[in-house]
Amino acid sequence: MATELRLDPLNGRWVAIRPERALRPDAFVLRTPFTTDAADSCPFCPESFDGEVVVDETTDADGHWQSRVVANRYPAFDSDAPFVSVNKGPVFTEATAGGVHEVLIFTPDHNRSLDAMDDGEIENIMALLKRRLVAHASQSNLRYTQAIINSGREAGASIEHPHGQLMGISFVPRDVAEEQARFSQFVAGCLLCTAIEAESTSGRRTVLSSDAALVVAPYWSGVPYEMLVLPRHHATHLHTESDAVLTGVGLALRDALRALKAAIGDVAYNVVVHSAPYLHGEPFHWHIHLFPKATTRAGFELGTGVSINVVKPEDAAEVLRNAATV
Ligand SMILES: [Zn+2]
Ligand SMILES: [Zn+2]
Ligand SMILES: [Zn+2]
Repeated sequence: MATELRLDPLNGRWVAIRPERALRPDAFVLRTPFTTDAADSCPFCPESFDGEVVVDETTDADGHWQSRVVANRYPAFDSDAPFVSVNKGPVFTEATAGGVHEVLIFTPDHNRSLDAMDDGEIENIMALLKRRLVAHASQSNLRYTQAIINSGREAGASIEHPHGQLMGISFVPRDVAEEQARFSQFVAGCLLCTAIEAESTSGRRTVLSSDAALVVAPYWSGVPYEMLVLPRHHATHLHTESDAVLTGVGLALRDALRALKAAIGDVAYNVVVHSAPYLHGEPFHWHIHLFPKATTRAGFELGTGVSINVVKPEDAAEVLRNAATV
């Protein structure tokens, strides 16, 4: 069978689809357990919480926190400086890395993974996420916040306790600018509203569908079992979306993670939220990427930006869809 090239309309990169029998669902590499990180030494557990600065939190009726945001102790970005770039030579350009770096601790329970959470817990987490992004949006030196989840050592997590990270930065990063440009160039309406319509019509890549969101294994998946969570309601920014929509989209993400675990096991993964930069309006449609950590970017991908995906998205969707409905 010939290798098929598919174009990712969000970033303009080609993806090579080259199915291999070697990577069947049961051949996936599962996450390696953390050995040192017992609950009694975890900085995010209530019993061993070691004085991180709490920025915001949600609490239950007894005043116990349910989810909370703390300042990252080892921030990648942490000053009020605006973005001013300086040329220090013909090929040396420098700028101050202003911004904030926060950790969103999903739960006080060390062993409660996102896929296991109930609807109320998801609602809490999404509400807290929104509150932080509203706060970031009002901070004059922040242009964009990257919300991510690194789950599992293979996906870059250094702490096992379920958490995400919010990196507010003073510039619009290249990949987000590229998506913005792709939305602008797409002349037939909104790129992702069109994708929702096309994928709903086809159904072949649908993993799950709810009132709030459509989850697909995108046509242009660059890694095996990649998913895209598409809010049905067209909105440029996450932080201005209604609580009801945010909860619905959060539930779709949780259910996608459940399907992933049921389909191929407890693999490491990255979640990437893309919302438009704060000062940017239409056209954009916020969305969430879910990348299971199955493969490592090797030389060809680093050299070309072209991913080679060994699982056909249609096959991945079928496996995930079946796992989602059991
Ligand atoms: Zn913990
Ligand atoms: Zn749209
Ligand atoms: Zn995106």
